[in-house]
Amino acid sequence: MKLLEYEAKELLARESLPIPNGRIITSPTDISTLTAPTVLKSQVPVGGRGKLGGVVIVEQTAKIAATVSSLQSLKIKGYTPKVILAEEKIQIQNEHYLSLLVDRATSDIRLVAHTSGGVEVENNNSTDFLNIAINAASLTDCSRALARYLGYEESLIQPLLVHLYDAFIKNDALLLEINPLIYTQEDTFVCGDCKMELDDMAAFRHTNWNFEEKLGDTNFVVLNKKGTIGTIANGAGLAMATVDAVASKGMMPANFLDIGGGADTESVLKAFQKIVEFEDIRAIVINIFAGITRCDEVAKAIITAKEQIRDLPPLFIRLAGTNFEKAAALLEAQHIQTLSTLEECLLAAKGAKNE
Ligand code: GDP
Ligand code: MN
Repeated sequence: MKLLEYEAKELLARESLPIPNGRIITSPTDISTLTAPTVLKSQVPVGGRGKLGGVVIVEQTAKIAATVSSLQSLKIKGYTPKVILAEEKIQIQNEHYLSLLVDRATSDIRLVAHTSGGVEVENNNSTDFLNIAINAASLTDCSRALARYLGYEESLIQPLLVHLYDAFIKNDALLLEINPLIYTQEDTFVCGDCKMELDDMAAFRHTNWNFEEKLGDTNFVVLNKKGTIGTIANGAGLAMATVDAVASKGMMPANFLDIGGGADTESVLKAFQKIVEFEDIRAIVINIFAGITRCDEVAKAIITAKEQIRDLPPLFIRLAGTNFEKAAALLEAQHIQTLSTLEECLLAAKGAKNE
């Protein structure tokens, strides 16, 4: 799950990391008390906003309202923002790149840094990066290495890195990227921008997770806009196998969807809403082998979808695993049939298609 910048910065602030003073703007009345200079930032879930006009420094208070409204309608890589972040303008002395990320290849967390950060970071020579493993026991060594690499006093870097590492671990992050890490003209550090990706599989540990991007949004991939079969599965492997199975029966899968481990009624319902947007959908195949996912949550979503979504195509449902009995009872009460294998679902879907 990718967070928006303002959501990520809230998590940073909770760990005492320095972020610019700012607030979010969702309606025109939020603007009235803003004064220049201010930085207005489009809250879309993609990077590179600066180069695409999504980050604007406004020097005159009279221009704030117009800039906000143009940002609200500016599409960036396909996204229009629901929220604009207004921040104090920071006086930059230097911009650096700093990130922590899970490295699946080496099974450790990497600390990656570059002396020159900001919008041109991708032009940095890849061999110039500091790239070292980091863990709780090596924080002091890593702080020393980072301080030496960036050219600052260790006493300035150490608290920054300790808080950053805490923010990473406490929030079950996969990626925490500060770019730019700003060294201000007052000789202090400020996290100018933050990109954060959290591990969906850890959602059960974080009942307070309530971000713009909901669980289950992340793993929806459009395969074919003219596809006739929608798919809903849990786990990337099962979701891929489901797509393949649909195709192997001569039908055209419209989408890949892994509803993920922490899927709840709301996120599954959202999946249905996305699928019915495809024009040629004739059936939806639901293939759940529940471990962390709970069949009864999926069943509730199915029932709600049937109630709320007009023109829902026929559903062919195979559920197994955690809370299956509960789910079966819920569905049976609504006269919604389940099938016991994916094969049966596919044959039935093929029949529905040929009607
Ligand atoms: P991104 O392009 O999506 O990564 O957006 P950023 O938040 O990183 O902003 C892009 C660039 O805008 C930064 O690298 C800075 O150079 C500039 N910028 C952002 N905030 C400020 C600020 O408060 N003061 C100044 N002077 N520049 C800023
Ligand atoms: Mn940035």
